[in-house]
Amino acid sequence: MFIYTSIDVVYVALESEGITGYGEAAPNHRYNETAESVIAVFKSFDTDGIDNPYDSVHVNEYIGSLHKGEYSAKAALEMAFLDWVGKKLKTPVHRLWNAPSTTGPKTSFTIGIDEPSLIAEKVKEAEAFPILKVKLGSPYDREIIEEIRKATSKPVLVDANEGWKTVEVAMENIRFLVDMNIELIEQPMPSSMHAEMTRLKQLSEIPLIADESFTGREDLGELSHAFHGINIKLMKTGSMRFAMQKIAEARKHGLKVMIGCMVETSLADTASAILSLWADYADIDGHLLVGRNPFSGVVIDKNGYVTLNDKYGLGVELAESIFD
Ligand SMILES: [Mg+2]
Repeated sequence: MFIYTSIDVVYVALESEGITGYGEAAPNHRYNETAESVIAVFKSFDTDGIDNPYDSVHVNEYIGSLHKGEYSAKAALEMAFLDWVGKKLKTPVHRLWNAPSTTGPKTSFTIGIDEPSLIAEKVKEAEAFPILKVKLGSPYDREIIEEIRKATSKPVLVDANEGWKTVEVAMENIRFLVDMNIELIEQPMPSSMHAEMTRLKQLSEIPLIADESFTGREDLGELSHAFHGINIKLMKTGSMRFAMQKIAEARKHGLKVMIGCMVETSLADTASAILSLWADYADIDGHLLVGRNPFSGVVIDKNGYVTLNDKYGLGVELAESIFD
């Protein structure tokens, strides 16, 4: 288990014609991304490479050509472009994309793994959130879930984070989670165990959502044999536009769509919130978990719904000077 007390995010600002577009990268160590590698991608970016900032296909092609991998950096650059274009056209990005509404699903809120005796307190602290998410992987997983269930009857999602290494172990845990009335399970088995996951999907009474098994580049037809849905995160897909294509593709294969996030601030979470307008589930609590959040944007309303504003561009505002 990893407990992070600090984490790097890297911001980018693109300025032209007196308008600034903002983007944020939350580098993912799983894919060898670091703050340094993100900055290297930003440095390789040259506005001369962009003939027409309004041509999003061309913008994405250019950003995609900058480096192999490095999806969080690419997501940040595209975010900054979309923010700039929306501001220039005096239109919110969600309107440019004809979003069905400005309200997404209710977001889940992650309660940190603690020793079971502290769970009741954690549940109380999360009172404002209608759906809780728990990351498993401690020696006390069952006690934690039991304590949560003693404290609340709210919907609870669990993230097994690839923790179960055989179908038998997974099924034993799933049977327990069925008894505990758990809504969803994220990534029960390692992403390398596709065949086992395919068996597990046949057996599981609880919907299974791919997180580590879905980076954006897998065949969704294949994935639909092993999972009921996918967790799309901008930092994995590297692009909001590409994520939108994946949402449409997931629908064709009957897959549910969750929009997730990394530990990131309101800038990247607002971009994710825009995607959630087309999703079944939202897990957009990164900005609620960080100590320092220089941006404002997406709001979780009093009923827990992800709510966008009508400001131009992504709809974020910089509250604190960070680009000196
Ligand atoms: Mg996960």
